[in-house]
Amino acid sequence: MKVIETFGPDETFELGRKIGEQIAAGTVISLVGDLGVGKTVFTQGFAKGLGIDGAVNSPTFTIVQVYEEGRLPFYHFDVYRIGDISEMDEIGYEDYFYGDGVCLVEWANLIEEIMPENHWVITLDKVLEKGFDYRKITIQGGFEDEDSCN
Ligand code: ADP
Ligand code: MG
Repeated sequence: MKVIETFGPDETFELGRKIGEQIAAGTVISLVGDLGVGKTVFTQGFAKGLGIDGAVNSPTFTIVQVYEEGRLPFYHFDVYRIGDISEMDEIGYEDYFYGDGVCLVEWANLIEEIMPENHWVITLDKVLEKGFDYRKITIQGGFEDEDSCN
């Protein structure tokens, strides 16, 4: 586990960018955090690090948004509105989770039973005593033995 503190949106973007630059094909990341904590800021940096230049927003009307112009295919999931796990089967989620790209899943707790065993979890938290722009970002997964986040 690794904890990184950021003190503004630019730093969270930059963290996402660095991770996106180095992320390996096949990685599935659960992105966790309350509304307004910075998940989209992180994701935009992550996409930038993968070499995706266009705007990346949460996939509001679809479960998954596919970006193929980067170093690796990027599959951005938002499963908040999912009614039943079978909807994941319908979109063929296994092709994404076990494919040659990188998956980032918002609200992955709702589909916990189908998340790959070795997925990463990146959690963003506010700590109000530390200021309005402070975020504590916890990474559980592949970076544990590396220094790539610094
Ligand atoms: P979410 O997608 O989690 O709902 P957003 O990324 O859309 O959240 O919004 C995060 C908001 O918090 C933005 O307005 C951003 O400017 C602000 N913010 C302030 N400090 C930070 C920080 N350290 N990291 C990320 N966002 C921050
Ligand atoms: Mg968002």
